[in-house]
Amino acid sequence: MPVSRPPRSTRTVKAGSLLIGGGFPVSVQTMWKAAIGPADFEAVISSLTRLGELGCDLVRFAVPDLAAAEAVGALSRRTAMPIAADIHFDHTLALRCLDFPIAKIRINPGTLGAEWKVREVVGKAADRGVALRVGVNAGSLPRSLEGEKDPAEAMVKAAEEELELLDRLSFRDAVFSLKSSDVGETIRANMRFSKAHDHPLHLGVTEAGPLIPGIVRSTAGIGNLLERGIGDTIRVSLSAPAADEVVAGVEILRATGRRSEGVKIISCPRCGRTTFDVQNFTEDVSSFIHSTRKTITIAVMGCAVNGPGEARKADLGITGAGKMAILFRKGEIVRRVTYEQALEAFQQEFDKLCAD
Ligand code: SF4
Repeated sequence: MPVSRPPRSTRTVKAGSLLIGGGFPVSVQTMWKAAIGPADFEAVISSLTRLGELGCDLVRFAVPDLAAAEAVGALSRRTAMPIAADIHFDHTLALRCLDFPIAKIRINPGTLGAEWKVREVVGKAADRGVALRVGVNAGSLPRSLEGEKDPAEAMVKAAEEELELLDRLSFRDAVFSLKSSDVGETIRANMRFSKAHDHPLHLGVTEAGPLIPGIVRSTAGIGNLLERGIGDTIRVSLSAPAADEVVAGVEILRATGRRSEGVKIISCPRCGRTTFDVQNFTEDVSSFIHSTRKTITIAVMGCAVNGPGEARKADLGITGAGKMAILFRKGEIVRRVTYEQALEAFQQEFDKLCAD
């Protein structure tokens, strides 16, 4: 595997409490998957807390109408999670959101329309110190670019037209994204844009698909760009729950060396030697292991062949070994338990590790 290039140098954009670019850690975003109203706030706030525990740094909400603008705006007053408002077609919705402590407004040059509308949004965002994301999408390019043969080039042109307007308005706090559902187009567009401009880039392969194909395509696109030192914040777009998008995003950062905090899981794929239900155990432990930001490696192994070796190397490991499970902590055996006792014993040892 090639050695990753160091992150490229960009300006810093402040989105609420989140700093994007400028050498700050690459952040993970997701998008809320449903419309919200005030009656949903308690459940939404609790889900945002959980997404934060999983490693999410910002959540974007669709704002299709005034009721949504009021709801998303009111929500931003009640949560520490930075909230971005996603606006298409009606710029007055962006203006209304800017009356609240929103962290960022996402606009799409292909759907917002006339320049005067962008000017109004930019002017108010500047007054309020709110960041913008110019989100270019290959599926909704401005009409003037629909005839372009190369979709990657068309995305770059759309982004640069918007950038030129922002420059004329002396607006600096913008993150850009250039997304296609095609991995190659996404990579080429971001490489080309990043060579010419120092704005932070939000990476993603748009409409990447259901869980497994979507993660594979997102990893191919986002991972490739991160390896080249390109990318300051990422979103994995999946036809799956937001929590899956966050876990996938965090794992991409971990695999590319852009994030080390949190729990890395090593687990065996299982085979005919398995004496321990590794699959269900890893699902069970996922309910508590993400509550820490400590850098911890855990191993969950199925049998005595590779199990003790991997479990011994991890900060906390467990392996099946005949009728019992053996727990290792920092290379030493700390307990032998029955499979029924394994989950509780593992959680106790995990809690001790986090408290150290
Ligand atoms: S650790 Fe054991 S059970 Fe798991 S894949 Fe390897 S040999 Fe099979």
